[in-house]
Amino acid sequence: MPADTLEKVVNFAKRRGFVFQSSEIYGGLSSCYDYGPLGVELKNNVKKAWWKAMVRERNDVVGLDSAILMHPKTWEASGHVEGFTDPLVDCKKCKKRWRADHLLEAKGIKPDFRPGEWDKSVTCPDCGGELTDVRKFNLMFKTFMGAVEDEASQIYLRPETCQGIYLNFLNVQQSMRLKLPFGVAQIGKAFRNEITPGHFTFRTREFEQMEQQYFVHPSEAKNTFAMWKEERMKWYQNLGIKKEKLRFREHQEKELAHYAKAAFDIEYDYPGMGFKELAGIHNRGDWDLSRHEEFSGQELKYFDQEKNAKYTPHIIETSDGADRAALAFLLDAYEEVEARSGKEDAKHEKEIILRLHKDLAPIKVAVLPLSKKEPLQKLSKEVRSGLRNTWMTQYDETGAIGKRYRRQDEIGTPYCVTIDFESLEDKQVTVRDRDTMEQERVEIGELKDYLDKKLGN
Ligand code: ATP
Repeated sequence: MPADTLEKVVNFAKRRGFVFQSSEIYGGLSSCYDYGPLGVELKNNVKKAWWKAMVRERNDVVGLDSAILMHPKTWEASGHVEGFTDPLVDCKKCKKRWRADHLLEAKGIKPDFRPGEWDKSVTCPDCGGELTDVRKFNLMFKTFMGAVEDEASQIYLRPETCQGIYLNFLNVQQSMRLKLPFGVAQIGKAFRNEITPGHFTFRTREFEQMEQQYFVHPSEAKNTFAMWKEERMKWYQNLGIKKEKLRFREHQEKELAHYAKAAFDIEYDYPGMGFKELAGIHNRGDWDLSRHEEFSGQELKYFDQEKNAKYTPHIIETSDGADRAALAFLLDAYEEVEARSGKEDAKHEKEIILRLHKDLAPIKVAVLPLSKKEPLQKLSKEVRSGLRNTWMTQYDETGAIGKRYRRQDEIGTPYCVTIDFESLEDKQVTVRDRDTMEQERVEIGELKDYLDKKLGN
């Protein structure tokens, strides 16, 4: 994928209502984005597909929606107050702030340093100025709860969603009478005061995670880890991401998080960035439940009735970013091709096709009357009414039909339904396929079944 694809897709995303800069009329709020009318459909579809694969279609995983604000002790137990830091350096001249590890990596130097030590030959990439020593910077957003703003009322916006699952381990297990192994899944916002956000929605300060924690007997942790690794990779491939754009990367011992026994990233080949993390699969051992047990004083063990044994389950985590996934799907689906439709008004040479998987496409069916004449309008609106309670549809009657097909190809709509004058007589419509451009005549009475076979719901 050419390096300028990201820039093209950023412009396209704005133009076609996928993603806007947050607070744009005030000059924008750095690294915060708003999803437009089509973007919210895409992102909701990503989350829906994840929930379907992780909860709806499994016997062993249940859902949860825990609060963003949590007891501050949570973050002491999790190690975030102490250790959720990035090493940063400031430029003494232009005052710009940099991630120290990123600067070293860019120079081909392994970022294996302790805070305070800095290689003076590495200077500010912007102005060449001298950089300060390395400091640790905590990435958690702080706020206050209640009327008094003092240390006692200070809390955090959660930097990850999984802690809500650990804290509810017993609530979920006991209320649902679950036996090990089982998983708990949740989707929700997380906040990190990233030092160097950027690359569009790849790294933002407010984002959404789709996380699942699978609780197992310690002896099963290794096999379960291998199972989830494959499952998560398959999920991205089944939803259409090209295989050669995805790979696993194993974390080396040095970079493993303090809690992790083993970790793999699923990486996507982002244009202009190369392979970067899309999702993670982590073997967290018994760290989380043991720590929360220690800090809360509440026992967080599993009692196995059959074996009459009590133990702390181990946890295999799958952690995906809804925004990073939506971006990867968008980039991977974006294609520019030679003009292929609407040649009658073809002043253009290139056309954009968004080859999104049908489950992810924001609009599933577009209904297009060939003319604005009253009887066609009426029939088209009736056809649309019959479809809209099952799928997200769009009605478009303006411009040449070729242009309207192109507009739908650009936003990834898998099927267009065209109503022409013959439709009034024979009660048939033409269904056009986005990818093959093949057209089929279908009885209006059978349209729903026809689309159901193609789209599902
Ligand atoms: P990175 O190394 O890119 O900072 P991470 O290893 O800190 O990511 P995790 O803590 O494992 O990421 O978070 C799980 C997932 O959440 C990531 O794989 C990613 O999809 C998403 N994610 C993490 N940080 C961000 C962010 N700042 N913006 C958007 N998505 C993010």
